[in-house]
Amino acid sequence: ASESEVNDVVVIGGGPGGYVAAIKAAQLGLKTTCIEKRGALGGTCLNVGCIPSKALLHSSHLYHEAKTKFANHGVKCSDVQVDLPAMMAQKDKAVFNLTKGVEALFKKNKVNYVKGAATFLSPSQISVEEEEEQGEKKTVVGKNIIIATGSDVKGLPGITIDEKRIVSSTGALALTQIPNKLIVIGAGYIGLEMGSVWARLGSEVTVVEFAPVIVPTMDGEIRRQFQRSLEKQKMKFMLNTKVMGVDTSSSDVVKLTLEPSAGGGDQTVLEADVVLVSAGRTPYTAGLGLENIGVETDKIGRIPVDRKFSTNVKGVYAIGDVIPGPMLAHRAEDDGIAVAEFIAGKEGHVDYDKVPGVVYTHPEVASVGKTEEQVKESGVAYRVGKFPMMGNSRAKSIDDAEGLVKVIAEKETDKILGVHIMASNAGELIHEAALAISYDASSEDIARTCHAHPTLSEALKEAAMATYDKPINI
Ligand code: FAD
Repeated sequence: ASESEVNDVVVIGGGPGGYVAAIKAAQLGLKTTCIEKRGALGGTCLNVGCIPSKALLHSSHLYHEAKTKFANHGVKCSDVQVDLPAMMAQKDKAVFNLTKGVEALFKKNKVNYVKGAATFLSPSQISVEEEEEQGEKKTVVGKNIIIATGSDVKGLPGITIDEKRIVSSTGALALTQIPNKLIVIGAGYIGLEMGSVWARLGSEVTVVEFAPVIVPTMDGEIRRQFQRSLEKQKMKFMLNTKVMGVDTSSSDVVKLTLEPSAGGGDQTVLEADVVLVSAGRTPYTAGLGLENIGVETDKIGRIPVDRKFSTNVKGVYAIGDVIPGPMLAHRAEDDGIAVAEFIAGKEGHVDYDKVPGVVYTHPEVASVGKTEEQVKESGVAYRVGKFPMMGNSRAKSIDDAEGLVKVIAEKETDKILGVHIMASNAGELIHEAALAISYDASSEDIARTCHAHPTLSEALKEAAMATYDKPINI
């Protein structure tokens, strides 16, 4: 390649990790190319993840509120119905506009966008099979390569996903009919969010989980309340249960054979119209040719990196879902900024212990920092402050007061160790806590910060107050 064709940075993958890394690198004055094979930018998150799921969560919430809550607010409407094609069209429009928006950002920041599948030829040369000219291959050259190829659906042995009756999250975001019965295998956040969507639209939803608890990373106390809340919304849970087999021979129903996780107990057969396999995600490196250049992967296929996101091969970096760490879009984005800064010779920083996590059900559940179980295990003496949303005037005034805020602070120093919120918009409330934890703030710092009234945020202030003193409004 002539010198003018050599990129400073080549990013493989246009998801939240890759597209953000590409834009940041270009902003830092580096000649940058991003290669994406999906035909659209935005990766899993924009195309089949965060964005379409939140679109359907919102639409189904509106329907559910109209059916069950509007009358309490004096809004009368009769004959509320779901128009599923219209709901899906609204979701597709949101996805299309956002992916096109990323393309526009590439143009604005002068990131060169190559559509096609990338394979390493050497640590600086990448062969791209271009989408538009099938079979045509071109070589893209870069001084630094960032692998941001993300993750893919993890299947279960013996279960074939056809995306019609046995679906992954991708199929669950595009069903053409509301299933009468939906079984969700896996009680992680994706399974619970998708289960909520279809439960609100009228499906009878049963969640089957191998572990004894739902979302195992969640603070135990919050998790128990969360499960009760989902049960009130008519979702059923079969915990400690493993899937033994699936029978799709009937054209009417899918039959799932289940057994206690420990084995040995009676088998049960559950029938459903649709089964969602939501058993986690797996790093995606197929076809990338990592073996051609000797990039190492760990036992579960992730690419280990050092503090600067460098792999074991010089000049080759990796970020996002394909490396160890929380598999979340905002964390991939932060990786993307940091790796571009490191490549540009600056400092970058992402603290995986301070990445907030949100489950976008209703109420939402959000957390940052350590759970009470983790703090207990660390042996640090701590205090807990709690405040129920029932004591929050804004939540009461809008008749949406389910949940609580829980603040965990170090006993000796009052430093905040973890904050867990279950509330209607916990996903927004959590960032005050994320900022506090990033600055090593104490619970008293939050409690003495003036919070506007009446806001849901006041519940965090009161929970913070409750860690070292008494709250006022409960
Ligand atoms: P990805 O987004 O997976 O992007 C990788 C891209 O690389 C893909 O577009 C792929 O086509 C491309 N690629 C792969 N190999 C090649 C190759 N050889 N050549 C060229 N291109 C290649 N996270 C949140 O934070 N919040 C949420 O609400 C949320 N909701 C989710 C809901 C669902 C249903 C799912 C499935 C995921 C959700 N996630 C959410 C997780 C989030 O989508 C991921 O953490 C995030 O997309 C990871 O970003 P990434 O850039 O590492 O990889």
